[in-house]
This record gives sequence, C-alpha cells and structure tokens, in this order.
Amino acid sequence: MTTENPVAAARRAGRSALDESTGKQLLAMHGIRVPQSRVVQGVAEVDAAMSALQAPVVVKVMSPDILHKSDAGGVQVNLHAAADVKAAIEGMMRAPRIKGARIDGFLIEEMAPAGHELVIGGLRDPQFGPLVMVGLGGIFVEILKDVSFRLCPITCIDAAEMLAELKGAAILKGARGTRPASLDAIIDVLLKMGGENGLLLQHAADISEADINPLIVSDTAAVAVDARFILG
Ligand code: ADP
Ligand code: MG
Repeated sequence: MTTENPVAAARRAGRSALDESTGKQLLAMHGIRVPQSRVVQGVAEVDAAMSALQAPVVVKVMSPDILHKSDAGGVQVNLHAAADVKAAIEGMMRAPRIKGARIDGFLIEEMAPAGHELVIGGLRDPQFGPLVMVGLGGIFVEILKDVSFRLCPITCIDAAEMLAELKGAAILKGARGTRPASLDAIIDVLLKMGGENGLLLQHAADISEADINPLIVSDTAAVAVDARFILG
C-alpha cells in the first residue's frame, strides 16, 4: 500500500482507469468505508491473505479487460474457508472470459453487512465540472433509471434533497417489512464524493467518471463494495 496519491501514480503508469483495489484505497483516503481486503496473485498467497481477514469473504478478478466481473464469472461471494477461496480463483483462471484477459490479481475482501444496494457516481461536464449522482438499485440501476444528479459542490441539504427526489425514496425508509437504510450514512458518502472538499472536486482534473456500484447501506453503515474510476 502506497501513501502517494493513487490517482497521480496510476496516471504516471499510463493507466486509463484505477483497478478496484486502488479505487477503494482512494475512497478510504476520503473517509468512505470499504471492505478490508488483500490482493493475491495466485492460490499460493491465499492462506496468508485469509489469516488477515474475517470470513465470509468475496473473491473478485482484477483485470483492465473485464468491466463487469460477475458477467465474466469473476465474482464469488460468501466464501468461508481458504480452500473455497483457492477453488474460486482456480475456477476463475479457467473461465472462458477470464483466461485470455490481462490479470492484475485477485481481490479477496470481507462481506459487507447486508443492506440496500445503491449507486453513487460522478461524471464531469465539460462546461460545469463535476456532477455527483445517486441512484437506487445497484446492478438494476440502468433498468430502474431512478437517479438524481447535482453539480458539485453539494451541501448536506442538497444531499438530503437528492435522496428525497428518488421515486423509490420510500424503499430506503424500509417499505414492506424491509430494514431501513441509514440516510445519514448515504448523505455522508455523497458529501465525501461531491461536497466542497470531496473526492470529485479534489480530483476534477484527473477523474472523468466515478462509479460506486454498489454502495451497500444497512441501518447503521454504508460500505462501497465496488469502485471504478476512469481517468482522463
Ligand atoms: P461487478 O459489478 O463488476 O459485477 P461487484 O464487485 O459489484 O462486481 O460484485 C457483484 C455483486 O456482488 C455486487 O453487486 C454485490 O451484490 C456483491 N458483492 C460484491 N462485493 C461484496 C462485498 N464485499 N460484500 C457483499 N456483497 C458484495
Ligand atoms: Mg459492481
């Protein structure tokens, strides 16, 4: 792990996007919660990684060639033993859509507490600068199209309004017997991304797109379990 600005380091290395582990490092530097994790290059490193983590864990392939890891067979959740993690990695290495890809490693990370899956993103308007976005639905965000945008910087009031604007806002409050999501935790992440000292404004010159999908929000916490940053 480096203390250097990971965005600058990736640009210097000529990368057009941050890998997931580096993206999460950047989120953590801005105070956004991410799962504890280790990156391994192969099964030989799994035992050491697992001794540093609390099961159950998730294994994910890290590859600049694979955008949607699940679609490629590159995500396995809820693994308990090191042997399961090794089997998952071996399976991924043989998967048709993974075996020919460039592999940066395998991310092993702790499972986030169950909750509502949201999306928080950022993009850059050529004229007005960074915008921050929140949406419902995690992987279903494109289908639900229930999103809300603001220009950065946003205030706490803006963030609360963005959530209230969502068509499915009631779902977050715990409709139909589901547990409520902590609105404060979501607002906190929105401010850390889109606020005055937020990540999007601080890195406006380097980051053209940001995507936390999903942010898993329980009644007490919000954890960013997937992160993608496009540089340029
Ligand atoms: P991708 O979007 O590239 O397919 P993700 O990293 O988003 O891959 O993982 C796919 C899904 O697996 C997520 O939408 C989430 O439901 C689940 N998931 C991933 N990581 C975790 C985690 N650390 N804790 C709990 N669930 C997770
Ligand atoms: Mg994802």
